[in-house]
Amino acid sequence: MYSISKKITLNKQALIAKNHFSNDEIIPAALTKFTCCNCGHQNIVEIFPYETGFPIFQIYNEDKVLSKNELLHNQIVTETSQRMVHFGSLTVNDLPTLYFGTDCQACHSKYICVFSYGEKQPGLTLLNISGIWQYEELK
Ligand SMILES: [Zn+2]
Repeated sequence: MYSISKKITLNKQALIAKNHFSNDEIIPAALTKFTCCNCGHQNIVEIFPYETGFPIFQIYNEDKVLSKNELLHNQIVTETSQRMVHFGSLTVNDLPTLYFGTDCQACHSKYICVFSYGEKQPGLTLLNISGIWQYEELK
């Protein structure tokens, strides 16, 4: 897991075994797999609440890594509803939204994973993976 600071371009979206997790499924971590678009290898993804990921704001701040338009156009995030805007202007499912970079274990293709995590209502904690996209750094 790493942060991304250079401008990137998105390629294909990877197939994910499971995107939506709730309550006990997130303890101690949400566990899923994604299939590499390049070599077909199944990579394990573990998301530990409050440990895995970096704020998505770092990606779209000043269009540094990806622009807001690119994030919206690729349906990675949506515009946050007014009453939840304290989580940032772009989120997944109106919850605190994070991202991380990861590599395919087999061919080392680069991927970005975007997810949100938080309490949707009392007693219901959700973790939603918006998607995992293959990307390349722009020169
Ligand atoms: Zn691969």
